[in-house]
Amino acid sequence: MAKHQFQTEIGQLLKLMTHSLYSNKEIFIRELVSNASDAIDKFNYISLTDEKFKSQEWSGKVTIALDEKDGTITIADNGIGMNEEDLMNHLGTIAKSGTKSFIESLTGDAKKDSNLIGQFGVGFYSVFMVADHVDVITKKAGEAQAYKFSTDGTGEYDLNPVTKEEQGTIIYIRLKEDEKEFLRKYRVQEVIRKYSNHIAYPIFIKFTETETVGEGEDAVKEEVTKVEQVNAATALWTLSKSDIKDEEYVEFYKSLSHGDAEPLVHLHNKVEGSQEFTTLFYIPKKAPMDMYRADYQPGVKLYVKRVFITDDDKELLPTYLRFVRGIIDSEDLPLNVSREILQENRILANIKQNSVKKILQTIKKLEGEERDIFTTEYNKVIKEGIYTDYANKELLLDIVRYKSSSEAGMVSLEDYTSRGDTEKKEIYYIAGQSEKVLRNSPLLEAYKKAGIEVLIMDDKELDEIVTPMIGSYKEWSFKDITTIEAPESKSAEEKEEITKEFKSLTDKIKEVLGDEVKEVKISTRLTTSPSCVLKDSSDPMASMAAMFAQMGQEMPEIPLILEINPDHEMIKKLNTLSDESLFADTAWVLLDAAKLSEGLEPKDKAAFAGRIAALATKAL
Ligand code: ADP
Repeated sequence: MAKHQFQTEIGQLLKLMTHSLYSNKEIFIRELVSNASDAIDKFNYISLTDEKFKSQEWSGKVTIALDEKDGTITIADNGIGMNEEDLMNHLGTIAKSGTKSFIESLTGDAKKDSNLIGQFGVGFYSVFMVADHVDVITKKAGEAQAYKFSTDGTGEYDLNPVTKEEQGTIIYIRLKEDEKEFLRKYRVQEVIRKYSNHIAYPIFIKFTETETVGEGEDAVKEEVTKVEQVNAATALWTLSKSDIKDEEYVEFYKSLSHGDAEPLVHLHNKVEGSQEFTTLFYIPKKAPMDMYRADYQPGVKLYVKRVFITDDDKELLPTYLRFVRGIIDSEDLPLNVSREILQENRILANIKQNSVKKILQTIKKLEGEERDIFTTEYNKVIKEGIYTDYANKELLLDIVRYKSSSEAGMVSLEDYTSRGDTEKKEIYYIAGQSEKVLRNSPLLEAYKKAGIEVLIMDDKELDEIVTPMIGSYKEWSFKDITTIEAPESKSAEEKEEITKEFKSLTDKIKEVLGDEVKEVKISTRLTTSPSCVLKDSSDPMASMAAMFAQMGQEMPEIPLILEINPDHEMIKKLNTLSDESLFADTAWVLLDAAKLSEGLEPKDKAAFAGRIAALATKAL
């Protein structure tokens, strides 16, 4: 007997499976059948491409046998199988960072948590929700030696050579005392139909039934073993749309996503002509847990003529569409495509291009609640798309939504422009970290007064980089209100006059603040605030800042312009103030308070607090 220790994380996971996750236990069948189907997919591919196996008579199938006497359920496949190393690497260890993030993301809500199981690729261990002992007997295709991997779900497993005729894997599951419902044929059949109906291979159930044989006085009851196929065994996407019911699309999504949730939308397309391919895509209602992890699992599987090729190619769709789940099935790609070939393949590039268009067009058409869900979950990645997918910029700009200074909820650019000034064709926006700070920014005052809508963009890193790059939307150009002149409320002459009138004041403030500001100006954009700060867009640093951010570097500081409000009582009084130290304190407070309103920090917080205290004392 060769005993081995499970990797620590698996030990943790097993404990969780046995003690904490108790709702929705039936999914262990889905997980094991899905593994079996993957193993058959892998061998199917080899049998078609590898000379060694081409002559072998073979067709993939899964058999689930129910043994009431022993209290065991076995799930057998004739797929690729595992050798000793595979068993240790795949069942004894978790190579992916998945388990750790799985354990971290548990919510304590058993139902939700069991839904996470599949997402993180820890499917096999779900069997310990119902089993107290599991044997995996398996032989890898083309190898002579078979192995048995046994564990009762504690910290250890045994691994020993055994004999087995056929290639493939059999999993013997001894059910816990109170999980015997999974020995009933109807129960198992129900689970398979629910999650695995459109697994592309036949799934059989082997069960015994008591039958009456003979008639009249000769009649005797006999135990008969029966085998029945329980799934449709057609790849759903190969059927024509009109033959597929909505609930079948949903069921297929569940088996694909290893979850219980329904998708937001699906789109199924068959393309014929010079190139032939079928795509079936889903957008999940909830963004995948790993959407913002660098090691996210791609959600699209590639098939060639119904033969599974890969589910691990991140290039099948652009990165920003990494939340999409589904399949691509090409008639034209060669079966033995290598990863390198895939990257540069023109056929695939064409499929990808077509798929992206279809997906974006579908998203564009979403309405009502579906539209809201999409925005909540995916607006940010759409912004990534605007930045990276130049070819689809127009569509993406139709899809993206923004907060607005004058409208509730999220608005589209189409709506914004329909309300805007069709002469000027300008889209005003303010970008930063916090919605609250942005909404309270003094810079908005002039726009509010003039009744001009401003987009509030609070996905800081994204918006600050992406929006300036957009350039325009249907001839409407984006204008960052922190870098442009405000809508004028005063005429040029008036402004010139006031500027003259306050010239000595602005000069004096600039003298006090020194290099902290590039310039002190009279403002026409303020109504209620005494001052505001603006970035100097003419400064070369301003355009470089975006470049720095793009390279993931700290943004250099852009010089600020301080504007003061000549109509404000504070400024009027300051203009006639003779107390020098009080003047200096007030000048600094004008700058620091304006910075705070824009979410920026005063240069010296302690000094700021000190000045406020000094001014308050004077006032009292
Ligand atoms: P996942 O299927 O998400 O990778 P699992 O924990 O369910 O996670 O399985 C881990 C690995 O064990 C699989 O990726 C596969 O390599 C291997 N495996 C599991 N079941 C089988 C099987 N029936 N036949 C061959 N390999 C299997």
